Amino acid sequence: MSCCDQPGLIPVEQALEKLLNAAQPITETEMVAVGKALGRVLAADQQSTVDVPPADNSAMDGFAFNSVDCKESGQTTLPLSQRIPAGVAPQSLQPGTAARIFTGAEVPSGADTVIMQENCQWDSDQVILPAEPKAGDNVRPRGQDIQSGSIIMCRGHRIKPQDMGLLASVGIAEVPVYRRLKVAVLSTGDELVEPGSDLPPGHIYNSNRYTLAGLMEAQGFDYIDLGIVPDNFEATEQALRKAAALADCIVTSGGVSVGEEDHVKACVEKLGSLDLWRLAIKPGKPLAFGNVLGTPILGLPGNPAAVFVTCAIVARPFLLKTQGANDILPTPIQVIADFDRPKPAKRQEYLRAMLSLDENGVAHAQIAGNQSSGVLSTASVGNGFAVHSLNGTITAGEPVPFLLFSDVLY
Ligand code: AMP
Ligand code: MG
Repeated sequence: MSCCDQPGLIPVEQALEKLLNAAQPITETEMVAVGKALGRVLAADQQSTVDVPPADNSAMDGFAFNSVDCKESGQTTLPLSQRIPAGVAPQSLQPGTAARIFTGAEVPSGADTVIMQENCQWDSDQVILPAEPKAGDNVRPRGQDIQSGSIIMCRGHRIKPQDMGLLASVGIAEVPVYRRLKVAVLSTGDELVEPGSDLPPGHIYNSNRYTLAGLMEAQGFDYIDLGIVPDNFEATEQALRKAAALADCIVTSGGVSVGEEDHVKACVEKLGSLDLWRLAIKPGKPLAFGNVLGTPILGLPGNPAAVFVTCAIVARPFLLKTQGANDILPTPIQVIADFDRPKPAKRQEYLRAMLSLDENGVAHAQIAGNQSSGVLSTASVGNGFAVHSLNGTITAGEPVPFLLFSDVLY
């Protein structure tokens, strides 16, 4: 039995498992400067060859000394023997003296404590330290953040802004990453017109092309825009052949349903194989997955909200895995539903929703408005999906899983 003869719809989790098993991560790598590595996927573990910080340093502007030189009770007066601004290598501290020191400056050997200047009285020759300073205070020890030899980031990690800083902090200037995944995107439909031109009767503006462009760019993919494909078998076949030759993966919108104007599915069956079709997802049931001449293809539905949902929930994890990334499935948070969905979901529904905090700081989800698969404005207004789980219900006041857009779009 082929996937398409199956009577039921495939649950989202099952489809994702199948897709992720089928994904073949690319292996070609390139070096990029750390400053240009945002969103790229590391192709090798990164090991530090230094301690961070490289030496004990002061967390305060103040005075460094050795706690053994302080009186057991009452203030201690110590002569000042050196001045250590940041960026200067200090000399060993003469016993029985203190050093003027500034934030980030290296603590001299022989000193173990820094007192902030606000708690001291001083002139150019000496400092009066307060009673009973705590030994070790305000000293950031060598290796506090990272120890030499430790792995600071693993292969498959998608580089975030703070990762760029962390790599730089251990002196790494460039990193090996997987080359960008090439994704060919095409929109099918005789009714489509590009924004910027007039809208003849019977037509609509092509919005999926732009939703998908944004999603591909947000993942850092090398996105190949193949424009609009008319609703006929020959044009669809030609476009899919071209896409397969150019890209690592193909993403299409529209034309995967059962109408006689829907040619994508039949073309995929002719040029390769269709391995999955029709998911228990709402919006977005008619989703197809297979290959065209060996190149994986995700045939997304045509309706704009369905494209948004299926690309974020189904296509993105597959594409990210193919890009070589790990940690690609989002983790839902639990929030309180401010709405009811009493009927058990026949398809797992991804409701465009808005998150807000009540007066106690507890997060609540509200429906963003119309949930029709043709309505994109509610995706724009919302900041995440409230998930109406397969066979589950949603009751106002009870917890509901919520996926932040920031976790499924980037
Ligand atoms: P289809 O699956 O091709 O029958 O498309 C389903 C619905 O989505 C139809 O109402 C189409 O007009 C609409 N649609 C398809 N492609 C696009 C697109 N690129 N932009 C906006 N709407 C689309
Ligand atoms: Mg169509």
